[in-house]
Order: sequence, then C-alpha cells, then structure tokens
Amino acid sequence: MKIEAKELSKIYGEGESLVTALDRVSLQIMPGDFISITGPSGSGKSTLLHLLSGLDQPTSGRLTYDDKDIYSLSDRERSALRRRSIGFVFQQFHLLPVLTARENILMPLLLDKRQPDEAYLEQLSKLLGIGGRLTHLPHELSGGQQQRVAIARALITQPDVIFADEPTGNLDSKSGGEVMEILGKVHEKMGKTIVIITHDSRVAGMANRQFSIVDGVLAQKAAQKWSLR
Ligand code: ADP
Ligand code: MG
Repeated sequence: MKIEAKELSKIYGEGESLVTALDRVSLQIMPGDFISITGPSGSGKSTLLHLLSGLDQPTSGRLTYDDKDIYSLSDRERSALRRRSIGFVFQQFHLLPVLTARENILMPLLLDKRQPDEAYLEQLSKLLGIGGRLTHLPHELSGGQQQRVAIARALITQPDVIFADEPTGNLDSKSGGEVMEILGKVHEKMGKTIVIITHDSRVAGMANRQFSIVDGVLAQKAAQKWSLR
C-alpha cells in the first residue's frame, strides 16, 4: 500500500491558544519503506502519526491510501480500512490488564468479527519470542515482553503498515534493543512497511529514510553524510 500525505496541517484551539501542531506536511510512504521521524517533545510527531494512520483528521490537506482519498470515506469505511491495513504500536503498550497476552493479541480480530488464525498466531509468537507467555496477564510480563505482545496485536490483522510512536520510550536500553531487533525482522522477514517515531539515534539509523520534525515542519535528512574535505 502506498500512503501519500499532501500538505497536511493540524491546528488545535483558536485565538491566543491556537497551536499549529502540523504545518503543511507532505510525505510519500512506499511499500517496504522503513521511515524514522525524530524531533523534540511537542514538535508534532504523534499528531503526524495519528493523521497518517487515520486515527485523527487534519485541519487541511489530503491523505490517500493507494490513491484513495481517506477523508472522502465515511467514518465507518475509514475505520474498517484502518483496522485492516494499519497496525499501531504505542509507547505505553496499552494492553488491557484483565486479558491474557493471547486475548490482547486477538482483540483486533474480535472487534472486526474475524476468526483467529492459530497458525499465524503461533508463527508471530515465535518470531516475537513470546510463545511461552501467551497465558500470562500483562502485569506478569516485563516491559519488553509487553511491548512484544503489543507488536503481535498490531500484526495479527496482517496489516501492510506498522506505525510505532516511540515504541522503546518506556524500555531500558536492552529491552529497547530487542524490540527494535524485532521491528527490523517485521520489516525484513514479513515485508511490512514501518514508520517509527523515536528519540534514539540508533533506532533512527535502522531506517532507509530519516526525517526530522521541528515546530510541525517535516524535513528529510540527507541520506548520507558528505564530508566537505
Ligand atoms: P510530540 O508527539 O512531538 O511530542 P504532539 O504531536 O503530541 O507532539 O503535539 C504537538 C503540539 O500540539 C504540542 O504543542 C501539543 O501541545 C499540541 N497538541 C497535541 N494534541 C493536542 C490537543 N488534543 N489539543 C490541543 N493541543 C494539542
Ligand atoms: Mg508524542
């Protein structure tokens, strides 16, 4: 799936409390891309990810998935499309505390009235190293394991694209490294497109295209650093 944003802007509030969270951002996300976006706190990173994934609506601008205008769809059509083609990974995991890992992972399918594919669940659990943890509740898991469960939940609907908003932000450096290794495999072995927000330059370095955002303005970083000498 190709995702194209044209001049997306998001303005919150009005008058003196007006905030331009996103300022005419254009971006093409091609199948198989691994894109990183870095930027200071409050620069518009989460806003951009929410807009690109159709979780929120822009004040102005266009967003297309395979040339289909997302905001010309009804709310219902748009959320159905989002549920099937996009997986979202949050910094805070957002697992439901009373459900087991397995139940959390399968939740998006239940919401979409789809049957679980046991073979795919097993394959995912293996890839993510959580096969032995599926009957555990979130509080019985380490942070890194919880985030891996959340990644499995994002992948269970077989989406084309994974959006991750600071997925290692709540993890120590070792678990963060493991989570990134897994996202690398999700890109390489499963062929998923990945768009990741991060503060970690090591993480950003894994991407094939790196962007930065400052005050709502997105800019691509040079693909390579050139020496002036
Ligand atoms: P980041 O993820 O880079 O830290 P955000 O995208 O969350 O930044 O926020 C960008 C700007 O928009 C900030 O100034 C933030 O305060 C503002 N903002 C975000 N969400 C809202 C909202 N729901 N209402 C008003 N302002 C918001
Ligand atoms: Mg944020």
